Amino acid sequence: MNFVFDPPARPSVAVAGTGARFPVRRIFCVGRNYAAHAREMGGDGREPPFFFTKPADAVVASGATIPYPPDTADLHHEIELVVALGKGGADIPVEDALEHVFGYAVGIDLTRRDRQAEAKQAGKPWDVAKAFDRSAPISPIRPGPHPGEGRIWLAVDGQVRQDGDLRDMIWTVPEVIAHLSRSFELCAGDLIYTGTPEGVGPVGRGQTLTGAIAGVGEISLVFAA
Ligand code: MN
Repeated sequence: MNFVFDPPARPSVAVAGTGARFPVRRIFCVGRNYAAHAREMGGDGREPPFFFTKPADAVVASGATIPYPPDTADLHHEIELVVALGKGGADIPVEDALEHVFGYAVGIDLTRRDRQAEAKQAGKPWDVAKAFDRSAPISPIRPGPHPGEGRIWLAVDGQVRQDGDLRDMIWTVPEVIAHLSRSFELCAGDLIYTGTPEGVGPVGRGQTLTGAIAGVGEISLVFAA
């Protein structure tokens, strides 16, 4: 191919237990998918699922040290179950949805909460709040069964701030896939961040995030001082 310059490297995520990597196509995210978090964000927890996206090259491997993001004084952590699709489709029925899943990972939906609050207030897009560089840390992807329940938690410098259970998701993984596939034709390589439990809060320069989902994996991330 005669590109005018070398194309950027394809973003990818490690697959647990193998030397292979999962090539990332798109990153979709679900908003307010745990009732208690929806309430802390000002909702009543009963709305249909809604979606936003991050660029594929926002992925960051677990264990990384990253620069503190610019343009925010209120960077928030959101620990989330991530679904990695191994098969695409449109209008996927709920009962078939899990056949499209390659595996699961632990992700952090980093959020510039101050920029998001301004966007909400002004009715403007969320991209600056959600889709910035390195905003999608993710653990290795674990192929395997769908985790319908299990502890999901995150700590800042060892202090647990978020501590929930996957069973408290308002929209289940099959329902999320089905809903999303009505708006987008999904493809192998797509990641879906499925929303965060309550307890979101700020993380500062020099701090470390650690977290895990029972049966799925662990994640850690350090912000440079
Ligand atoms: Mn989120």
